Amino acid sequence: MDFNFTDEQELFRKSVRDFVSKEVAPVAAEIDKAGEFPRALFQRCAENGYFALRYPEAIGGMGADFITFCLMAEEIARGSLSLAVSVSMQCLMGTDFIFRFGTDDHKQRLLQPALRGEKIGGIAMTEPDFGSDLGNITTNALPTADGWVISGRKMWITSATIADFFTVAAKTDPEAGFKGVDLFLVEKDMSGVTVGRHIEKLGVRASETSELILEDVHVPAENLLGEKGTGFRNLGGTLADIRTMTGALALGLGQAALDAAIQYARERVQFGRPIGKFQAIAHKIADMGTQLEAARGLVYRSAWQVTQGVVDMKLASMCKLFSTEAANKIADECTRIFGSYGFAMECDAQRYFRDARFLLYGGGTSEILRTIVSRDLL
Ligand SMILES: Cc1cc2nc3c(=O)[nH]c(=O)nc-3n(C[C@H](O)[C@H](O)[C@H](O)COP(=O)(O)OP(=O)(O)OC[C@H]3O[C@@H](n4cnc5c(N)ncnc54)[C@H](O)[C@@H]3O)c2cc1C
Repeated sequence: MDFNFTDEQELFRKSVRDFVSKEVAPVAAEIDKAGEFPRALFQRCAENGYFALRYPEAIGGMGADFITFCLMAEEIARGSLSLAVSVSMQCLMGTDFIFRFGTDDHKQRLLQPALRGEKIGGIAMTEPDFGSDLGNITTNALPTADGWVISGRKMWITSATIADFFTVAAKTDPEAGFKGVDLFLVEKDMSGVTVGRHIEKLGVRASETSELILEDVHVPAENLLGEKGTGFRNLGGTLADIRTMTGALALGLGQAALDAAIQYARERVQFGRPIGKFQAIAHKIADMGTQLEAARGLVYRSAWQVTQGVVDMKLASMCKLFSTEAANKIADECTRIFGSYGFAMECDAQRYFRDARFLLYGGGTSEILRTIVSRDLL
């Protein structure tokens, strides 16, 4: 048993940390305030090879392992969760299904340019009336002589305004529940695809989130990603990766909040001494550090399982549940340690507090994750 990262992983983490410290952290508050997608920073991530990181060299990727990928997600989230959300969408959910099930043409025209940052990918599962309950979505795909016609309305779609293509979940058999859900590649410039309203959000404000409307969108037969009837199973094949990666985002956010709280506890003086000398504050810091370290253990153990080719859904669900709840607790305590200053928009603590909420939804809410874990344990 070995709990150490390799020299290569440590070197890579340091290079991402340096990039984030120099180029991301200094503008994180500004891009949050503007609430606009930070295109230039996103392109810098492409130049650094982050989008290609976890894909094989044969298709233009860097062939790094999943632990290295999680280190990148953690470090970017430490600087800006908004940027990390857009980057992780591009690296994983927005491109993975094209990699696994797309044709050579899809890979050449869409995936490979996406790995270089020249195209942007998204995923469209959630609908206004169905989020966790994906088996009941109403977006449908009807067969034609040479493909499918897709119609429906999607909600909460990350990068919808800026994306060039989407993996869309649609029902091919309305009576078949989960087994009737399939995944399709839909390109933004196809007739019938429009981006609906932009959603103003509490947190991760510099990531774009909008509705996506599909009206009689004709897609060719080869845009069905995977065998008919396997969409939900194929989605499940990536779910452990998504949950573990979200855990890594939670580590980055939690670390940023803990670091800020420690610094403030050392500097802020009340009753003639730094507030960190009061046991009440010192114990908060101890609890925050302990929660984060426990989360780190779960995230990297789950990431290690992914590198071994083992799908451990219980562990990945525990990892997302514990680490995202921990990040929320840490961000909450951070604002308390800052006192009223933590309530000021100029203080980073409030951004951590707002951004942390994002971690609780995608990849399974805490309620759904508890159901999955308890089902396995009981
Ligand atoms: C910033 C942001 C970006 C997003 N990006 C994307 C994206 O790019 N693509 C995409 O498809 N989706 C995206 N989502 C949507 C996200 O995946 C969903 O919000 C999530 O799946 C939960 O669905 P819901 O919000 O509709 O909640 P619901 O499923 O309606 O749940 C509401 C509440 O009920 C609880 N609940 C539901 N069912 C059960 C149950 N069986 N047992 C116990 N409790 C239950 C939930 O835990 C929650 O507390 C994004 C969301 C956000 C906030």
